[in-house]
Amino acid sequence: MRTRDECLDLDARDPLALLRREFVLPGGQIYLDGNSLGPVSVGAQRRIREVVDQEWGDGLVRSWNAAGWADAPFALGDRLAPLIGAHDGEVLVADTLTFLLAKIIGGALELRENRHVVITDAVNFHSDLYIVAGMAKLAGRDIVVKTIDRDTLHEHLDEDVALVMLTQVDFRTGEMLDMAKITAAVHAAGALMLWDFAHSTGAVPLDVTAADVDFAAGCGYKYLNGGPGAPAFAYVASRWQGVLRNPLPGWLGHARPFAFESTYESAPGMRAYLTSSPSVIALAALDGALEVFERTTMTEIREKSLALTDLFIELVHDELGDAFEVVTPREHGRRGSQVALRHEHGYGIIQALIERGVIGDFRAPDICRFGFAPLYLRYVDVYDAVQVLAEVVRSSAHLDERFAVRLAVT
Ligand SMILES: *Cc1c(COP(=O)(O)O)cnc(C)c1O
Repeated sequence: MRTRDECLDLDARDPLALLRREFVLPGGQIYLDGNSLGPVSVGAQRRIREVVDQEWGDGLVRSWNAAGWADAPFALGDRLAPLIGAHDGEVLVADTLTFLLAKIIGGALELRENRHVVITDAVNFHSDLYIVAGMAKLAGRDIVVKTIDRDTLHEHLDEDVALVMLTQVDFRTGEMLDMAKITAAVHAAGALMLWDFAHSTGAVPLDVTAADVDFAAGCGYKYLNGGPGAPAFAYVASRWQGVLRNPLPGWLGHARPFAFESTYESAPGMRAYLTSSPSVIALAALDGALEVFERTTMTEIREKSLALTDLFIELVHDELGDAFEVVTPREHGRRGSQVALRHEHGYGIIQALIERGVIGDFRAPDICRFGFAPLYLRYVDVYDAVQVLAEVVRSSAHLDERFAVRLAVT
């Protein structure tokens, strides 16, 4: 069995160890929920203060030009692009994820007018399911949304399929899908591919260029640490820019927003997918949060992520045997950066852990979810968290009646 000293030794040799200092982490807690809301970083704090005190405080309206506010959604997109293998000019940071998915789905359906089927995963994140159904209704023609078992995708790929939308890392189980292989199969059937990177970006290496992805979108507040409700990002491969229409046009996506023309003419490039005013303070937070990624590589992050999740799975098994079903694939190639443990009293277990300073989350009906963010987590944190988990389970602390009623946000 692994010892705590062995974990301390792994930390001493960890090439990412110094980056932990870039985060503001409350004492007495082990934070295993960075896949839901990443912590604030020194960089984010500094950029927010700069924007509030100087750019907004002193510069006022002049800052739209002088401080680059008007171009911030694209500058930040270029900063984020290397994390997903995109080129400059292929990423926009704006809105939130569900809205960006709406724009891409709506536009993509117009690109395959002789096809009427959209495929998504039956266990996709609920917001993704709602928005794809909503956009299908708005399409102005009969669109069928098929929610399938993603493992049977190949059986559904025929000449009726216009678009396939999948989330690359399953938010519940942490299973990671083979982006290149699935995209190639979708293209072979003549359909378009939209990937949701909510649980991928900043956690696993992504290469949209190599995988020939058409469209993607992801979240700013999970592993990217952009803050609660942070803006999301959209990727539109350069070959689709100027072709994919934004179905939610607004003044800032116009070719000449300050000409105040009464008819819409789309701006070129990614600007076409901007609708309304960027949320400048929120963009600044994400901008500051991305700094730390420039001090490492996704390869290094991935290596540590797999080591942390391996360690967690191993320790849970050593301490608790088969008390939990490990739902997350053991195979590295199919694992994101989280571990999901199934237990019938999962909600109580997570609440008891939170009371003891180990922060994970619960996903109905029975999943205890633990996110492992390599930028700030230590191997010894994994060790200590499993000790607390073992204490909870052995003492049945999770069966306390206080946990019988669920909070609004789990
Ligand atoms: C977190 C998450 C979202 C949330 O999107 P917002 O609209 O930004 O709140 C959507 N889809 C998936 C798969 C997610 O994990």
